[in-house]
Amino acid sequence: MSQLLPSTESYEAQRLIELQRLEILDTPPEECFDNLTELASGIFDMPTALVSLVDDDRLWFKSRFGLEISQAGRHLSFCSYVVATAEPLIVENAQLDWRFRDSSLVTDEPCIRFYAGIPLCSPKGYVLGTLNVIDYQPRTLSDAALEHLKMLAKQAEQMLLMHGQRQQLLKDMEGKFRSSARYRAIIEGAGAGIIRTNFAGIMLEVNPSVETLLGYKPEELIGRRIEMLMPEKWACEHARYMNSYMKTGRARVIGKGREVSALHREGYEIPVHLAVSEVVYPSGQKQKESREFIGILSDLRDVYSAREREHKERALLRVLHQGLTDYHALLSGNTLWGFLKNALVELTGSQYALIGEVQSREGQPTLKVHAVTDLSWNEESKQLMAKLVSGDMQLTNPESMLGRVFAGGEVVLSNDLLNDAKQGDMPPGHPVLNRYIGVPIIDRGEVIGMYAVANADEDYDLSMVEWLQPFTSTCALLINLYRQLNHQAEFMQGLEGAREQAEQANKAKTEFLSSMSHELRTPLNSILGFAQLLQFGKDPLAQPQLCQVEQIRQSGQHLLDLINEVLDLASIESGYMHLSPQSIEVNKICAEVCELLQPMAEQYQVTLVAHPCLNERLIFADYIRVKQILLNLGSNGIKYNRLGGEVSFSCEERGKQLRIKVQDTGVGIPEEKLNLLFQPFNRLGAESGPIEGTGVGLALTHKLVTLMGGDIGVKANPEGGSEFWFELPGTDHLCALQEAAEMPESALTADVEGVHRVLYIEDNPANRSLMEAVFAELDYCALCCAPDAEQGIEKALEQPPALILMDIDLPGMCGISAQTILKNNPLTEHVPIVAVTAGVTEQERRQASTAGFAAYLTKPLDITRLTRTIRHLLSGSAQQ
Ligand code: ADP
Repeated sequence: MSQLLPSTESYEAQRLIELQRLEILDTPPEECFDNLTELASGIFDMPTALVSLVDDDRLWFKSRFGLEISQAGRHLSFCSYVVATAEPLIVENAQLDWRFRDSSLVTDEPCIRFYAGIPLCSPKGYVLGTLNVIDYQPRTLSDAALEHLKMLAKQAEQMLLMHGQRQQLLKDMEGKFRSSARYRAIIEGAGAGIIRTNFAGIMLEVNPSVETLLGYKPEELIGRRIEMLMPEKWACEHARYMNSYMKTGRARVIGKGREVSALHREGYEIPVHLAVSEVVYPSGQKQKESREFIGILSDLRDVYSAREREHKERALLRVLHQGLTDYHALLSGNTLWGFLKNALVELTGSQYALIGEVQSREGQPTLKVHAVTDLSWNEESKQLMAKLVSGDMQLTNPESMLGRVFAGGEVVLSNDLLNDAKQGDMPPGHPVLNRYIGVPIIDRGEVIGMYAVANADEDYDLSMVEWLQPFTSTCALLINLYRQLNHQAEFMQGLEGAREQAEQANKAKTEFLSSMSHELRTPLNSILGFAQLLQFGKDPLAQPQLCQVEQIRQSGQHLLDLINEVLDLASIESGYMHLSPQSIEVNKICAEVCELLQPMAEQYQVTLVAHPCLNERLIFADYIRVKQILLNLGSNGIKYNRLGGEVSFSCEERGKQLRIKVQDTGVGIPEEKLNLLFQPFNRLGAESGPIEGTGVGLALTHKLVTLMGGDIGVKANPEGGSEFWFELPGTDHLCALQEAAEMPESALTADVEGVHRVLYIEDNPANRSLMEAVFAELDYCALCCAPDAEQGIEKALEQPPALILMDIDLPGMCGISAQTILKNNPLTEHVPIVAVTAGVTEQERRQASTAGFAAYLTKPLDITRLTRTIRHLLSGSAQQ
């Protein structure tokens, strides 16, 4: 121990700490100290003996024999001197000692003359005070007496030490008492069950919460084994586990905590969190007897049920979310009902679930089961379930457990189905149902479906129905969607059927019209052809015959116009009309139409006027069809006019459209008939009049204008008569495309020298006769005929002709294939081949044009055009 030097500051500070630690200053007198001072006074025959302790600035007497005062000033005191020197001090006559003669203890009361003091030291060697004897007259102390005084001082020192130890002990005890009181308060007040056991698992202490948690009173547990609170599976392992822990220190629960089950007095298990701490008492760390365990059991039932609730809420949310977001996939994949059924099983913890839709049969509600857990028990019941789910069988009985839900709209609930009157009779073999709840799915007051679940582990109650309300509403929504989609699908199916039917009808109509047109053209070819031959033949007819022939020709022409218009109408309706839009100069086309209509106007004594469009406007449309429209409207204006009347063509701008007007000064159209004007075959009464017509022209015109994205209308002409107008999109650009140029007249009338062999391949004898009659008129040609393509090709190769006239629709090989063969043969490749056909449709024309025919003539033949074409082609071949 490093001893500080007495009288230094740090020595003094440490000394005072040691003194304080004794906790002796100002304590009441103690018998043991008082006995000591009395003994000292007696032994040394001194009037006063003291146990003095030197405090910071005073002397305090723990025991004083023969002195009244309990303390004195430290200054110039004998004891302070002992402290400063740490040596015994003997002053025989203080009045003669320079160190003390001025001390008030000497000069004043008690007027000390003799002093003998022995230092009293702390265990660490600091001088805390003295044991001293005092006399009031000078005297001496023998060495033997001094030794005795020292021995007494040793006693005093021991007593001081014991006092200090006693104080410390008291303090420790107080601390221990407090911590034990705290421990008690914690244990008693804890909400968790706390059990203290010894190393062998014997319960030593339990707190009140153990009774609340496990139902045992403390006296039923204390002294018994902890295993009685464990379920079998843990109880039988516990002893082994503890042994292993004691040996190896490997812990599963101790110091870790874990979720286990505790056994209630009633025998059921309670989920708890178990935390175990080990207490090792210092007395014998190595012995197992000194080890105890404190187990804290926290009840997890609330936590578990909250977890379960959360789990169920999540499951419900997941079902709702999937139902609402994936409904389309569920519906189209036909998995909706299975999904809802499985969701029911999961959400309600049931064994069986059923979901169905309410339908109606003869005014009574029936249930179509969409999905049900398979509870079949034999072959027969299996078939029954299959029938039920396929919808072949519907449930009808309103009195059954299900019927009361789907027909009555009730929630039907039973948790004791076996003894419940509501159950009704189950067929033998039917799985036992003990718990059941059926819930109607109601939409706007109407029961549209239901679901039922059975055999959950726990009782059903109405709060579950409430909890499932969002699910039930989602079911209602999905059933409605399902129905809507079904209706839509049925509707679409119907629509598809109708479309197919319409398409078929349309196709049949087109085929019919095209074959009709073909069939009608063949006789017309003869009628018109021969009529023309009679009119313009070498041998002129007499006037009356000429008139009759003209009648025949006009009737034939009328029939031909009708056929052409009807065919056009049909091709628009069937979508086969092909348009080639281009920029058209309005003024130019109007002038051209006027020129074409001029002969007719003269015949009807009507004047044609074309008002030029001011700034040379253009429209964007199909040239031929616009001409057809103008010819139609113009010829009507002429036909339904009066003698000396007028038909005028004009044009005005209407935004981006151009409006072309055809006005006449004729009979006009009564207001009430205007809406019938564009109906095909409706002549508005004109059929009984002298004016010839088909009743198809305006209908066709209307369709053509609409097809080109325009509009058409009619109103009364302010100058009397009618004003027909149509609008088509205008354009600023003149497109290079123009109608395929007709062959120039000069070319068609070229001279042909010599006699040329012309081969006509045609199966129809009447057509062949007509052609022979035509050629009889032409002295520069010799005609030979072949009735089919095969013979025609043979003849052509045998002796290549100057020209071939080829019918397209031939028996066996068609005219187009024959043309290809001939064009690919070096003998005939240069021979011009003209298509002579009754095929007038766009498609047929296109086919022939791609095949590379030199010209395309349609039946009935325009004889003039035929002869011009022949002449032109022969003159070409003659030049070659
Ligand atoms: P049609 O071949 O009979 O002329 P349209 O379809 O061209 O057939 O016309 C239908 C009917 O509309 C005609 O029969 C006629 O009664 C009436 N109509 C057409 N244009 C005029 C017109 N410019 N003036 C008076 N009536 C007309």
